[in-house]
Amino acid sequence: MCKSYILLLLFLFGHFFYGLGQDSNKPKLVVGVIIDQMGFDQLYKYKDRYGETGFKRLINEGFNFKNANVNYIPSETAPGHASIYTGTTPAYHGIIGNSWYFRALGDYVGNVSDSTQHIVGSILDNPNGVSPLNLTTTTISDELRLRSKFKSKVISVSIKDRAAILPGGKSANGAYWYDWESSPGYFVSSSYYMKKVPKWVSRFNELGKSDAYLNQSWNTLYPLSTYTASSPDDNKYEPSLGGKSSPTFPYDFKAMREKVKAMGTEYRLLWVSPAGNSLLTEFAIAAIENEKLGTDDYPDLLNVSYSITDVIGHTFGPQSVEMEDIYLRLDKSLGDLFSALDSKIGENNYVLFLTSDHAAIPVVSYLRDNKLDGDIARIEQYYNKLNSFLVAKYGVGAWIENFDGTQVYLNKNTIDEKKLLLPVIQQEVADFLMTQKGVYLALTAHDLQTQTYEEGLRKTIQNGYYPKRSGDVLLTYDSGTILNSNSRMAVEKVKGTVHGSGYSYDTHVPLLWMGLGIPKGESVRSVNPIDIAPSLAMFLNLRMPSAVQGKPLSELFE
Ligand SMILES: [Zn+2]
Repeated sequence: MCKSYILLLLFLFGHFFYGLGQDSNKPKLVVGVIIDQMGFDQLYKYKDRYGETGFKRLINEGFNFKNANVNYIPSETAPGHASIYTGTTPAYHGIIGNSWYFRALGDYVGNVSDSTQHIVGSILDNPNGVSPLNLTTTTISDELRLRSKFKSKVISVSIKDRAAILPGGKSANGAYWYDWESSPGYFVSSSYYMKKVPKWVSRFNELGKSDAYLNQSWNTLYPLSTYTASSPDDNKYEPSLGGKSSPTFPYDFKAMREKVKAMGTEYRLLWVSPAGNSLLTEFAIAAIENEKLGTDDYPDLLNVSYSITDVIGHTFGPQSVEMEDIYLRLDKSLGDLFSALDSKIGENNYVLFLTSDHAAIPVVSYLRDNKLDGDIARIEQYYNKLNSFLVAKYGVGAWIENFDGTQVYLNKNTIDEKKLLLPVIQQEVADFLMTQKGVYLALTAHDLQTQTYEEGLRKTIQNGYYPKRSGDVLLTYDSGTILNSNSRMAVEKVKGTVHGSGYSYDTHVPLLWMGLGIPKGESVRSVNPIDIAPSLAMFLNLRMPSAVQGKPLSELFE
């Protein structure tokens, strides 16, 4: 009796005082690493050239989910980062694109734009306010904060604002990103989180690292002849930067910044330099030290999102030597980050996952030159054809309020005036678009609200559909087709890549784990990045994020 009373007391004591984090097999720090636009193939394409401490450490020591796919359209950065940390899709978290048409405003809104906030930590006044306002469900970061009565710390860092803000959810202690517009390449934050940036951030900024990096040249890490996983350095699928006559190494950033100084974009050059990843790694390590992450009984969370891979992909394409070199250097940066975690937190005190927000299609002109399907869907042409169809069928009127290439927003006033039924005209639009060359599928909002699709592209469209923000008809194009608003651009002339579709070239991403409690192994089971947050909930014994759709990755718990 007495013994069980003591046991009960111990049990209660444990729960009241050590509710989170005392358990020796719980991590002190969760680290999320997101590599923007990293396709699964890039893990293996350069594998022989990676060192032992970066990507290969994850493959060799951790758990490798080889068949992870983004399961919604559009496969873009903002929905990607929101989905990873909310454990759900745009259908619930509301981040339906990097930007979307907002009927009430008659204009586009950015995924993190918030006019009630302003940038803190810059030098010039920067009124472009940002916050996680548009996120409509909780993240795993929020659940961790709530559960610990806000004693667990959540810090999120990136080069892009959205890639720092969305992972932290609404209750992060701080999100920091690289500011090229209103400072000499400082890490800044938003008034949403703080009145001014912490001293350690100011100190880091004042070291002038961005300047120092941008005074260097970018040359390949190894002799050019060894870059055999890529096309020759000089090829027609890449543009020439900074007034050069060919798209080739070396890139003299010092000369390039002189040329663009007057335009105010010299610090933006860091986005197309491997230095962007190096600088972020240094900043992330400074955050671990200065925020004292992983040092108390409350597990903390750090998100580090690397953006340069995406910019290099858009600019040069995945076949480029530039891309290969970015990955070989990023591999070393990851090694630096992991070794800092080992020494500061302890190898068995943290759990880390690495994934991507989306992948990307090979350059479409390159596909076409090699007999594969590669084409452009020209937004303006589809708009004009659809408009003519509606005018011919229903009479003169403003029928289309907005068309961004994948979503048709019909003009509801015109439809009301003409006393037409919205589901009927939605279906007419979808049926018409389905007759058009290049369109694979068009689904109406009515169908998306009343049907449940189980798999395939219908399901990925439905996962991207948020009733109050999405359009009346959602469409997707044939495999190999990219969207472009420039109707004169010849397919043969396309340089660089894009992403956004539901095809595997855009959706198949790496998903690896390592650290405390992570078994060594790999799986070919079909999984999604939205399975990460519910897995973290299981590791930390947390409540699931509010609209979780993903499932814990059971292999990690066997
Ligand atoms: Zn991108």
